[in-house]
Amino acid sequence: AKRDGRNAYRFFTSEMQAQSARALLLENALRRALERGQLSLHYQPQFSLDADGESRVVGAEALLRWHHPELGWVSPAEFIPIAESSGLILPIGEWVLVEALSQLRRWDDAGLPELSMAVNLSAVQFRHDDLPQLVERVLGELGMPAERLELELTEGAAMDNPAVAITVMNELHARGVRLSIDDFGTGYSSLSYLKKFRVSKLKIDQSFVRDLTDDAEDRAIVDAVIRMAGALGLQTLAEGVETEGQLAFLRRQGCLAVQGYLFSRPLPAEAFVEFVRAGALA
Ligand code: C2E
Ligand code: CA
Ligand code: CA
Ligand code: CA
Repeated sequence: AKRDGRNAYRFFTSEMQAQSARALLLENALRRALERGQLSLHYQPQFSLDADGESRVVGAEALLRWHHPELGWVSPAEFIPIAESSGLILPIGEWVLVEALSQLRRWDDAGLPELSMAVNLSAVQFRHDDLPQLVERVLGELGMPAERLELELTEGAAMDNPAVAITVMNELHARGVRLSIDDFGTGYSSLSYLKKFRVSKLKIDQSFVRDLTDDAEDRAIVDAVIRMAGALGLQTLAEGVETEGQLAFLRRQGCLAVQGYLFSRPLPAEAFVEFVRAGALA
């Protein structure tokens, strides 16, 4: 038993070493990723659901992509936490904001309908003193109305420090920027905070959408979130919609917007334009 224990311990440490070696490697590579032009954004269309059964593209969510010459594509699920713990998320997050809003300006110039741009924020950026000023400056430099921007903050990040969250939300709200709570339902937020948080939208997490057609409990949760949001004057967007069955349920319950592979995967900017133009003709 003693020997097994020691082997198990050794195995555990070597696995941990391999993991932290990879994390270190990624952190060093990420440090240079921006200047070397390895980061890009993909855009996933967001659709409004109208009462008459129509759906149309009303916005895009910007999603960060990293392609490294040797490591290949690295998933945001792997590199975002590293960017956060190293502080690199601050320059990277600023780049995302500038790039996403510059893209929105180019789409306007190319004659696309007026879309909104949703940008993900890390808790680290949200806690950083300068965020409201940064957002105001970038919008000003690009001549983009604040109403076109939507910042997504996860429930966990908002609940990390609710007092700070409320202050920052108020400052962003005062500048006309809208906020969404991302991954809603996965955190531990007390519902009473929803009254105090200056948000305009709840994004229903894809974990509740996945089994919607088979799981009565998920249906009950999604239904409750949609009704509560309606009563509080908040919009709802369901994420990760992959099937017609899920869409039909969400429509029936009065969900206002959706996003997911059923409509489109996240796309490079040029493919996004083609997607929107093709939809407008259909
Ligand atoms: P998220 O903000 O919840 O983004 C939704 C994720 O679900 C994206 O993964 C998207 O590609 C994926 N997705 C969209 N539709 C479907 C679907 O129908 N089915 C399934 N299974 N998945 C779908 P992605 O792009 O890998 O991003 C993962 C996470 O990384 C994001 O989750 C977000 O938390 C973070 N992230 C991505 N870009 C940024 C960024 O610019 N800044 C920050 N702070 N975080 C980011
Ligand atoms: Ca998001
Ligand atoms: Ca989400
Ligand atoms: Ca997520």
